[in-house]
Amino acid sequence: MNSPSAIINKILTFSAVDGPGNRLVVFFQGCNLACLNCHNPYTMGRCNDCGDCIPHCPQQALSMDDTGTVRWDADLCSQCDTCLSVCTFSASPKTLRYSVSELLDVVQDNTPFISGITLSGGEATTQLPFILAFLTALRTNPATAALSCLVDSNGLLGKTAWQQLLPLVDGVMLDIKAWHTDQHKAITGSHNHRVKASLDQLIRSKKLAELRFLLIPSVTDFDPPPDDLLLMLRGLSPETPIRINGFQHHGVVGAAAFWPPAQSDDISRFQQVLHSAGLLNVKIPVHTEKMSLPFR
Ligand code: SF4
Ligand code: SF4
Repeated sequence: MNSPSAIINKILTFSAVDGPGNRLVVFFQGCNLACLNCHNPYTMGRCNDCGDCIPHCPQQALSMDDTGTVRWDADLCSQCDTCLSVCTFSASPKTLRYSVSELLDVVQDNTPFISGITLSGGEATTQLPFILAFLTALRTNPATAALSCLVDSNGLLGKTAWQQLLPLVDGVMLDIKAWHTDQHKAITGSHNHRVKASLDQLIRSKKLAELRFLLIPSVTDFDPPPDDLLLMLRGLSPETPIRINGFQHHGVVGAAAFWPPAQSDDISRFQQVLHSAGLLNVKIPVHTEKMSLPFR
């Protein structure tokens, strides 16, 4: 059987905001949600080698090889991002393919400087065969075995797949984009039955590293909180790490660019809801909705 490889948008060798300590972050290309509010919409799709972006590149950094595959020359690229704006598939030609051993080498080279790694995206779990093989290699390599490993996820992964993944990771940072299914579908294009099932599974397996709420005034349905959301919050242990991601416009395109950004009053109100539910470990990132972004 061929060993799996991954399509990776970006590797950040140092981040202090994607989990505790200094972390190496791998941004996988491709997502199974289509959030209107996405700050990195070009990480959603996977390049289909249509070639439409090639003539728009001012640096001739893009080309089509003999096999019909689009190639990106990082040395020629000026990072103008014209190709991203041209692509109608929410993809990027500026991705790289890594084998398990190649990614392990990158992590190993950085091991002296980091406390752990975070698998992010896009949605890392859309490349599950690769991350299972990679994490197994990471855990069995004496040089990297002690690194903590977190996954940043939208929660769409199925129960059986989580059962394969969770023994290999220290925890999962789970995004809650909306609470009611209709609201979730309006924002992301998908219902959230799986997200709630994943939340339950992560709590029961003690692998919920952080629960993250996206707060978009008049769009998300956390303010005021519905009764079943309050019930869930009251059932969490008080030290559960919670993050309130206040919506901002940075990188957002389309209809969501006209949605109101979260103000400090909106965030304070939801923070009070969380405190009233007994949750005391609430973080609020400054001026950003998400963690670090896969900017090159
Ligand atoms: S990045 Fe988009 S426009 Fe460019 S080749 Fe791939 S799918 Fe086509
Ligand atoms: S970001 Fe790089 S590859 Fe894309 S259009 Fe600009 S120079 Fe070309």
